[in-house]
Amino acid sequence: MDLELITIGDELLLGFTVDTNAVHIARTLADRGVRITRRATVGDTPADIVDAVRTALDRTGAVLTTGGLGPTADDRTHESLALAFDRELVLNETARDVLAERWLQRFGRPMPDSNVRQFLLPKGADVLTNRHGSAPGIWLEDSAGRFVATMPGVPREMRGMLLEEIVPRLQARAGATATTVVRSRTLRTTGISESACADRLAELCGAVHDVPLSYLPGLDGVDLRLTVNGVPAADADATLERAAHTVRERVGDWIYGEGDDDLAAIVLDALRAHGHTIAVAESCTGGLLGGRLTAISGSSSQVLGGIIAYDNRIKVEQLGVPESLLAEHGAVSEPVALAMASGVRERFGADVGVGITGIAGPGGGSDAKPVGTVWVAVDVSGVVHAVKPVLPGDRGEIRHRATQIALDRLRRVYASTSSVPGWTVGGA
Ligand code: ATP
Ligand code: MG
Repeated sequence: MDLELITIGDELLLGFTVDTNAVHIARTLADRGVRITRRATVGDTPADIVDAVRTALDRTGAVLTTGGLGPTADDRTHESLALAFDRELVLNETARDVLAERWLQRFGRPMPDSNVRQFLLPKGADVLTNRHGSAPGIWLEDSAGRFVATMPGVPREMRGMLLEEIVPRLQARAGATATTVVRSRTLRTTGISESACADRLAELCGAVHDVPLSYLPGLDGVDLRLTVNGVPAADADATLERAAHTVRERVGDWIYGEGDDDLAAIVLDALRAHGHTIAVAESCTGGLLGGRLTAISGSSSQVLGGIIAYDNRIKVEQLGVPESLLAEHGAVSEPVALAMASGVRERFGADVGVGITGIAGPGGGSDAKPVGTVWVAVDVSGVVHAVKPVLPGDRGEIRHRATQIALDRLRRVYASTSSVPGWTVGGA
C-alpha cells in the first residue's frame, strides 16, 4: 500500500524542529508493508495545507498528516481539511465531553474553554482517540474512498495514535493484499572505521545475498544496515538473518549489538553476568560515562557511583592520584588515567574502576597532546589496561566518543578477547 505524508508546522520549515515524526512513521509503516512514496512539509497556513492535501489525494488517494491539531490559533489542520473536502466544521460534542471528564478527573478543575476548539472537526470525520494528550486526530474519507488521517505533532502523542488508531485501520484497508514488507536489521560496530568495515565486506559489493547494505557512521560507531524491500513477510526475517550472519562472520567482534542497543546496557549485562560492580572517575567527560550507565534501568545493582575529578586537586584528594605523577606526566597521561581507575575502584570498593582524562578542546591542545587526546584506563579486579585514542570532532563529540571507548574496552575485557587492539596491558 502506498501513502503520502504531510508534516505540518512553521517550526519545521524554519528548522527549529527536526522532522522526527516523518522518520518514525516511515520506519513503523515500512515494517507493515506500507510505503511512504512522497513526503511534504508545509507551514500552519490553510492555503498551503489545502494545496498539499489536494495534490496528494489526487496522486495517491491516501494521506497522513501530523501537527496543527492543538487548541491554539496556529493549529489549523482540521479547518484546512474541511476546506479541502468542502465540508462544514462541526463540534463533536461526544469527544469534547470525554476529554472534559478526563480533564476534571486528572487535574481536578474544568477543561479550559480554548480546548473546545480541538473538537471542531470536518463533518463526517471519524475521531481518532488520543490516549496520550488532548487533541484528537481524524480519519476523513471522500465518496471515492480516498482518505486523510491526521495525527498530533507532539511525537509521543503521534507515536501512540499511529500504533493504536492508524495502523489497524491501514491493515484493515490493505486486507490480505499486504503480503510484502520492507524490513531492516542493523548491526552496530564501534572502534572500526567505515572504510575498514568496507574493506572487510569489499567483495560483497554493498549487498549481502542480494540484501542491500548501508554504512551509517555516527558518534557511537558505524552501523551496518541490511534492508529487504518487497519481500514476502514470511521470508523477510530468514533472508535478513542469512545476511546478518555473513556480516558477522566478516566484521567479527567489532560488532557489539543490534538495532537500538546501547553499549552501556551491553556492558552492564556483562558486569551483571559476572556479579561485578563498577565505579567511574571522569575528568574530560565530566560525568557523561556515569550518565550513560545510570540511564539504563536496573543499573543500580552494578553502578556504585563516580567522581568528576576535573581539577587536579580532586584527582589527588578524592582518588589518591599521587601528586608526583601529575607533576611528572601531566593530567592527561597514562599513569594518571591508571591511577584514577584504580583509585576509584579501591575507594568505592568496586570490582571495576574506569579513569578518563583528556583534552576535549577547543582550547588546551599542544603538539604533544593535541585536542582529542584522551587516556582511558580500566581496572578490572586489579588488572589494568589503558588506551590513548586521539578522537576527532568537536568538544561534545570527543566527550561522547571517549565514553564509547571506555565502554568498548570493558565489553572486550568481558568478551575475553585475547588480543585487544591498541592496549597497553599492565598487571597487578
Ligand atoms: P499541540 O496540541 O501540542 O498543539 P499539535 O498537534 O498542534 O499539538 P504542533 O503544535 O504542530 O502539534 O506541535 C507540537 C509540538 O510537537 C511542537 O513542540 C513541535 O516541535 C513538535 N512537532 C511537531 N511536528 C513535529 C514533527 N514532524 N517532528 C517532530 N516534532 C514535531
Ligand atoms: Mg499546536
